[in-house]
Amino acid sequence: MNMQNYIYLFFFRNIKGSDDLVTGDASYIKMINRSLIISKIIEHGMISRADLAKITGLNKATISVQAAELLAEELIIETKQEHKNLGRRPIMLSLNHQAGYSLGIDLDKSVITFTLSDLSGSPLDTHIIEIKAFDYNLMVKLLAEQITHYKQRCSQSPYGLIGVVIGIHGIVNNDETIYFVPRHQWHNKNLKADLQNETGINVYIENNANLCSFAEIVYKHYQSENLLSVSLYSGIGLGIMVNSKLLKGCDGYAGEIGHMIIVPDGLPCRCGNHGCWEQYASESSFMKQLSKIHNIEYVTYNEINQWFVEQDPVTCKLMKDFIKFLSYGLNNIINLYNPEILVINSELLRLYPNALEEIKAHLTSTVGQYHKLQISEFGKNACSMGACALAIKNFLEVKELCFSIEFKTKKSVPQ
Ligand SMILES: [Zn+2]
Repeated sequence: MNMQNYIYLFFFRNIKGSDDLVTGDASYIKMINRSLIISKIIEHGMISRADLAKITGLNKATISVQAAELLAEELIIETKQEHKNLGRRPIMLSLNHQAGYSLGIDLDKSVITFTLSDLSGSPLDTHIIEIKAFDYNLMVKLLAEQITHYKQRCSQSPYGLIGVVIGIHGIVNNDETIYFVPRHQWHNKNLKADLQNETGINVYIENNANLCSFAEIVYKHYQSENLLSVSLYSGIGLGIMVNSKLLKGCDGYAGEIGHMIIVPDGLPCRCGNHGCWEQYASESSFMKQLSKIHNIEYVTYNEINQWFVEQDPVTCKLMKDFIKFLSYGLNNIINLYNPEILVINSELLRLYPNALEEIKAHLTSTVGQYHKLQISEFGKNACSMGACALAIKNFLEVKELCFSIEFKTKKSVPQ
């Protein structure tokens, strides 16, 4: 074993724990080097072999052998960089974006969102299906039909559909089985196995809030090691990344923050307690109150946006209360985690002018500290985008992923 490989082995032993590998396992070292090289090619977009050697600390021969294998596998491509100076144009390596495709699914309360992305994490299209019934077997059938459709659609590329990740709005065990989905009343379901059997595609199951935080990390805040992502839709979920690791708890249930009690003896919650945060600061709680006031069955984002534009006093007052209750919970989680970045994922807050300033005005504790507070640019697509990215990470077997794609930052009002 040369010194360079020894250093890498030492490094990974320290982060993985000494029981994970046998000293001198050459194939393991090769796998680690491959993972590092792919990560750096993706991070830089285009990079020469010489620069890869500099950045990774690997020797040129190792880079050369690994690059040749990745080229043969059609996972990367070579291009000649254009430059104005005379002389040889360096040959650059980049990811073969069309080598395969990833499907991210957000299985929400009443809609399922499907996003297909290429290997660079760029979404190609998104489509939404409304669901009326939550029977588990019917859902397996519907999802299997859709996955099979995407599988056929991607079949011309070298790797086809490389994997599917499904975001569950409920509690997911560490072994990817579903423990409980309250709104669908599903208990102990193995959706992963059921869909893999039906489709022959690798399927991964993850909690939706974890996927939202993964999207923030991969697409927006790659450099951050301590990031929290709060999603405020039908309930409130928290994705927690501490010291670059997703914190999932003993069984995988960490982050059920919507059931933190913020009002003693407050509104009843489906969890059996009273006064839970999501009864006051989830989008569905806001919409429920607003539709009651306006005496209509439900309100749309379009209507709410219009009321904000007109500065409708009832809607504005309700929004101020919503932000006050939201801030109570944010204050608590800031005190718990001291995050570098706290991202709030909410379509409602994207529509409301000065949302961020109003929230910050409530966070005045001298003890609770954070560096950055942001409203997510992803809106409702965060979960399915995070799901696409996770499927790509699993397929490429990389430890880190950093995508730099252009997003439309313009606000759009969802239907
Ligand atoms: Zn609750």
